[in-house]
Amino acid sequence: MKKRSLRDLPPQALDGKRALVRVDFNVPLKNGKVTDDTRLRASLPTIKYLRDKGARVVLLSHLGRPKGGPDPQYSLKQIIPNLEKLLGAPVEFIADPAAGVAATRRLTRGGVALVENTRFWSGEEKNDPELARTFAALGDLYVNDAFGSAHRAHASTEAVARLLKPAVAGFLMEQELQFLGQLLGNPKPPFIAVLGGAKISGKIDVIRSLLPRVDELLIGGAMACTFLAAMGLEVGSSLVEPDRIALAKELLATSGKKLILPRGAVIAPSLERANESKSVPADGIPAGWAVFDIDTTTQHDYRARLLRGKTIFWNGPMGVFETPPFDAGTRAVATALVDAGKKGAVTVVGGGDSVAAVAGMEDRLTHVSTGGGASLEFLEGKELPGVAALENA
Ligand code: ADP
Ligand code: MG
Repeated sequence: MKKRSLRDLPPQALDGKRALVRVDFNVPLKNGKVTDDTRLRASLPTIKYLRDKGARVVLLSHLGRPKGGPDPQYSLKQIIPNLEKLLGAPVEFIADPAAGVAATRRLTRGGVALVENTRFWSGEEKNDPELARTFAALGDLYVNDAFGSAHRAHASTEAVARLLKPAVAGFLMEQELQFLGQLLGNPKPPFIAVLGGAKISGKIDVIRSLLPRVDELLIGGAMACTFLAAMGLEVGSSLVEPDRIALAKELLATSGKKLILPRGAVIAPSLERANESKSVPADGIPAGWAVFDIDTTTQHDYRARLLRGKTIFWNGPMGVFETPPFDAGTRAVATALVDAGKKGAVTVVGGGDSVAAVAGMEDRLTHVSTGGGASLEFLEGKELPGVAALENA
């Protein structure tokens, strides 16, 4: 179901109105300073649009995982200098949403306020209607631009959208729904997915959802080892999930030729002994050695397959990319996506670590999802509560 967007609202619905905007300002902090402002910058198109249209902007977000009430370490006040700099405008801080209505009414047209961390109030994670009413009183309309929080039914993402209308998608949310939706809806073939990372268990629902839709599913990361074990191959001391071997067998049996596994691996006795690393074929992993990356033969194979793709989705690194030289497979897949994009493929990257792995390459990919867990749940075919609560277009 297509959702109503901020773009669909007429000027009079915005001019002078208080727009309550749920953003994802869950940024990393060190000693009270923002170390990566990607998420702040990602919200700028929505905030700027609202200010240009004369709206008064009231921002709402969570930050970290505070336990049991206010905790200065997780105060959103810390991000105000960054936000003011990015906006080139002052940002008023509302420490207590229950006492914040007057401050929102005092905002001038184009003025901006930021409400304290939503998770300082226990009702947030319980989707408490009372807290949602408190939030709703801070706005005349609701905009959700926090796709990364949409998989949770919280007071600031779900209950508030049921109370405050219009309730529409911001531009970042809209973009996520468009590109991820296209993968499930009608991807241009050949559709190739690359899945890696640590475990099958965390990705099984994505695998099940994507298998019928893709032409090929390329597997990498430690996840591949569980499949190799399911084929009866020796995997040494690699990270495997013994309790998922039966599942891997079932997937191999039912997926036809769609499931593509590494032909070889880069192995080492341990991560610490990376200097002893060497390449072996997938059926030549000795006992006592562990797989830490795909080998160059697999890199070339995956690259050739990806270059034939017209739609590509990638989640999960091909190896322990945090520890060179085991980043080579992941970097090769990233480059293959960029090159497939140059040949006209739609390239989408989602996840946590996979997004980190393509840092700096965003402009050469069609879409890099900021959604983390929400992107995966979306691709599992689940309805995200924060999206469901928005008005249909
Ligand atoms: P994402 O966050 O992109 O969804 P995951 O969290 O599923 O990805 O997996 C990322 C982690 O998987 C990384 O920390 C990486 O080191 C680890 N990993 C990848 N390949 C291997 C491997 N062969 N052995 C052990 N860990 C691996
Ligand atoms: Mg991860």
